[in-house]
Order: sequence, then structure tokens, then C-alpha cells
Amino acid sequence: MAVRPGSRARPRRAAGAEVSADGTWTNFPRRHRVRPRHVVAPADLGELRRVLAEAAAEGSRVRVVGSGHSYNDVAVAPETQVSLRHLDRVLHVDTASARVTVQGGITLRAVRAALHRHGLAFANMGDIDHQTIGGALSTGTHGTGLHAPAFASQVVAMELMLADGSVVRCDDRDPGLLDEARVSLGALGVVVQVTLQAVPAYRLRRSDAVVTREQAYTLLADPPAVDHIGLYFLPYIDQVLMWTAERTADPVDRPSALTEWFRDVVKVNHGLRAMGTVARRAPGTAPALSRAFARGIRPATTVDTYDRVFLRPLFVRHDAFEFAVEQAAGPECVRRLMSAVEDAGAPVAFPCETRVSPAESAWLHPAHGRTSTWVGAAVQSPGIDVDEAWEQAQRACVELGGGRPHWGKWHTLEAAELRGLYPRWDDFAALRGELDPQGLFGSPAVDRVLGGV
Ligand SMILES: Cc1cc2nc3c(=O)[nH]c(=O)nc-3n(C[C@H](O)[C@H](O)[C@H](O)COP(=O)(O)OP(=O)(O)OC[C@H]3O[C@@H](n4cnc5c(N)ncnc54)[C@H](O)[C@@H]3O)c2cc1C
Repeated sequence: MAVRPGSRARPRRAAGAEVSADGTWTNFPRRHRVRPRHVVAPADLGELRRVLAEAAAEGSRVRVVGSGHSYNDVAVAPETQVSLRHLDRVLHVDTASARVTVQGGITLRAVRAALHRHGLAFANMGDIDHQTIGGALSTGTHGTGLHAPAFASQVVAMELMLADGSVVRCDDRDPGLLDEARVSLGALGVVVQVTLQAVPAYRLRRSDAVVTREQAYTLLADPPAVDHIGLYFLPYIDQVLMWTAERTADPVDRPSALTEWFRDVVKVNHGLRAMGTVARRAPGTAPALSRAFARGIRPATTVDTYDRVFLRPLFVRHDAFEFAVEQAAGPECVRRLMSAVEDAGAPVAFPCETRVSPAESAWLHPAHGRTSTWVGAAVQSPGIDVDEAWEQAQRACVELGGGRPHWGKWHTLEAAELRGLYPRWDDFAALRGELDPQGLFGSPAVDRVLGGV
């Protein structure tokens, strides 16, 4: 596949990104757009190798794009944008070891379906599964639970195609290389193959409840012994929506499909979209809107398969902030986030998700080396400006909790400051220099947050 100026393979319309008729790519929250010089979708590894060689020869930097579900510009590719949509196969499922090997462009949804067919499951996951495995790993995508690993820790082996077209295998024979590759922002090479450690399929008993802010801070400081917990703070109001989940052998006991559709599609997505429209026009209504939203959430207990418990379709366009902070600082960081939004009078009526996670070994995982509280916030996009409040919250997370931003969400930190937050930063940078000496996999976003090679 020749990489010529202006050449365009027709890109897939992913659930997250959109591509307009003139080839402009826009990410999920509609905040970042770019018209790449070249757009390519190699059919196989041989073509990918040729794409890299031709890009290197013409001095064009390469960015692989997944589903475009990152909120920030980490996937923005001004020069050569590579889609792995044809490298999206399940290569092998080993039921005895519960391991699945897939190509880098496959979506989490397709991996989940393959696991399901073999009675297997992800050990843990986040709120959606539209992401590609390459994209989810590159930004450190995680779920919630003090013992629930992020995707990075579910990886037992990966293969990266490097700038020179060679393929390097990263596995337990070189744990340092594997921990470098698990989370890399696409800056080392192309993730072409991943082997994940799955687990036997399981069900969860999920309980939804409403607690006060003070109760929520206490729960964050000393989380209960449950497998998973999520807390949704709403600016301006005292009610916090809480869900917990634990493994169970009980049979499925879920609401009707109509009830679920009404909850997920009408209440959450259309409801939040309408709340954004009203809050934009009449900023003073945000507290009342949040109160109405919280009133619509009823305490409930359900039993369902793990994926139906974790996945909550969220297609309303929004922007998101999320920092992993030291667990002890979690409650104060959430307090500061809420006051930053409220003191600014920002018209925010959107649940702000707070989660917990165990320490991760990947050198650039935001939860690297420590149990973490994930301090999150969101707002309908575009059109509601919360940047100043989020700047303040970011400062509090960094100063009080050594906060590290989710690599795929809003933040304004740059390499010089990020370096001080990651103990293995220099090791990552040194190995990056060896694997990609010419900086083929750089981009404006990568230059800003990781620095050049
Ligand atoms: C509605 C919504 C819900 C979300 N929920 C969660 C959640 O619960 N938990 C969480 O942690 N995050 C969550 N996210 C964030 C999301 O998981 C990450 O931003 C993820 O990176 C998106 O995957 P993607 O395939 O869209 O990758 P993209 O956004 O397209 O790309 C992300 C990065 O991965 C790189 N990349 C992609 N594929 C490859 C590859 N094959 N090789 C090398 N580099 C590659 C890109 O260059 C880029 O740097 C959510 C996002 C949205 C929009």
C-alpha cells in the first residue's frame, strides 16, 4: 500500500470517531479534529510494514487510531493515520489456560463475544466496550474494584511492530519490556497482537443506592469489602449515587428489557443530553437538574452476567476528566473537584464518576505502584466550558494525591511535570529511544506529554 500525499483509504465510521466527507476525523466528544495527510488501513502485517517504511522514508509521523474514544488529542494523527480495522481477528482461544490471543485492531466487544462463546470473561472492564484492544491498552483503560485489574494487567503477552518493521514479542521472559509495552500511548510501535488472561464467566450481584456526600467520602477513605464499587457525585447536591457488585452463583435476576432501555437510553442518555441543553441556556438550573436526575435513580438489586453489570451505554456526547490519586487523598481530591466546579458556578449537571483500583505494574499506568482512587468528572460537550474548574481540580489532584491523569482524558499536564509523577519515567523514555530512535510514532500530543525522543 503506497503512502502518497492525499491518499485516502475509506475510514470506518466507528462508534466513537466520525469522519466527514472531506476526510476530517473527529473524536468522540467532538473536541479534537484533524484532516490527516494520509489515511491507511493495511490488510495484513506485510502492508503495515510497507506503510511504516514509506512513512519513514517521506518523514511522515505515524499514529495508529483505534475507535477514537479518547477524549483528548492522544489519537490525533496529522500526518499518517493508520487504522487496524482489517487486523481485528481472534487468533486463538486456549480454554485450558483461559487465554485469548487477538489482533491489535479488534474491539473489546468482539473479544468479549469470543470469550463468551468459550465460557470465559474479562477479569474486569470499564463502562463501555467500543474501544479497540490496542487503544484501551495504550491509555491504561481500567474499571473499578480494589482487586480488579485494568486491561494492562490482564495482558500476558504482546507483539509490537517497531518503526523498522520488525516485530518484538513482550512477555514474562522480559518483564521490564512487557511493563513498558502494556501502556505506551502508541509511542513505541503498533500493537499488532495481544494475549489476555481471561477468567471463567461469572455473574455479579449489583446494588444501587443513594448516599450522602459525607457517607461517600467515608466509603472512599475505607472502601467496603466488595468486588467493585463506583460513586457518582453530582455537583451542587448532597446525593451521591453508589453501586457495588459482588460475584455470585445466584441465577440472573434482571429488570425487563423495556425497563433497562428506559433507564439506559431515555433516562441516562437522552436525559443527560436534555440536561446539558437546559444548563447551557440557563446555567442557574444545574442544581435542580441534578436533583431531578438523582430522584430518578431508585435503590435496586439485580443479578446479571458480568458484562451486563459493567457496561452502561453512554452515547451522549461529553468530555471527561479523570486522575488516579493516592487512595488516602481520594476524598479530599473529590471534595476539591466538587468545590472547583461549584465555586465557579459552572453549569454542570452530569454524574462525576469516582472509582478505585489496585496498583498496576505498567510503568506508565496512572495507577502504577499504588492503590488508587480515580477522581472523575464529566460534562456534556461541546459548549459548556469547565476548563478553569478542571484546571483547579487537576492542581489539587497533583498536589494532594500525586495525581496522574488518565492518558485518554482531559488534562493539561506536560512531560516536565508528568516525569516527576512516574518513578519509571526515565526507564520508559530510554527504552522508547531504543525502540523508536527517529520518533516515527510521535505526534503533537505525544511530544507534549511524553516529550520527543
Ligand atoms: C463513553 C466512554 C466511556 C469510557 N469508559 C472508560 C472506562 O470505563 N475506563 C477507562 O479507563 N477509560 C474509559 N474511556 C476512555 C477509553 O477507554 C480510552 O480513551 C481508550 O484509549 C479508547 O480506545 P480507542 O480504541 O478508542 O483508542 P483511540 O482513542 O483511538 O486511541 C487511543 C490511543 O491508543 C493508540 N492506539 C490505538 N490503537 C493502537 C495500536 N494498535 N497500537 C498502538 N497504539 C494504538 C492511539 O495512537 C492513541 O494514542 C471511555 C471513553 C468513552 C468515550
